[in-house]
Amino acid sequence: MTASFLLEVVTPNRLVLSQDIEEITAPGVEGEFGVLPGHSPFFTTLKVGELMYRAGKEQWYMTVTWGFVEVLPERVTILAEAAELEQEIDVERAQRAKERAEERLKQLSPEEREFYAAMGALERAINRLTVASRRS
Ligand code: ATP
Repeated sequence: MTASFLLEVVTPNRLVLSQDIEEITAPGVEGEFGVLPGHSPFFTTLKVGELMYRAGKEQWYMTVTWGFVEVLPERVTILAEAAELEQEIDVERAQRAKERAEERLKQLSPEEREFYAAMGALERAINRLTVASRRS
């Protein structure tokens, strides 16, 4: 069995990561799942959450904002709406986005369509703050 596999994370704007790694845990829509080298092929969708990836004793985190993942024995490819590495996250921007969303939510009710847009913005902002807080 191979000891590592290639993780590629792509968004509409850029290649976020292309790295040989040994393990990931990813935020699947049906729950978090892990992948090790040699995993049997599958395809699923990702929600907003954090992606952990590890090589040896080093592990890192990145944000994923919705996407698709294709798992093959020697390669995992993620196509995400947005993704940021830990060190790329602008914490002040995420904090401002969180406050904006909280303000909007105070003024909206669940009957209004905008309520769900604000909930989504809040979820993305909290996820960015969570991943940024993992920076060592
Ligand atoms: P904002 O209101 O601050 O734009 P958002 O949640 O609406 O936040 P998205 O639509 O998810 O932002 O992302 C738009 C682009 O901006 C993506 O390329 C995403 O990677 C980037 N981005 C959003 N927020 C941040 C952040 N806090 N730090 C770094 N990049 C960010």
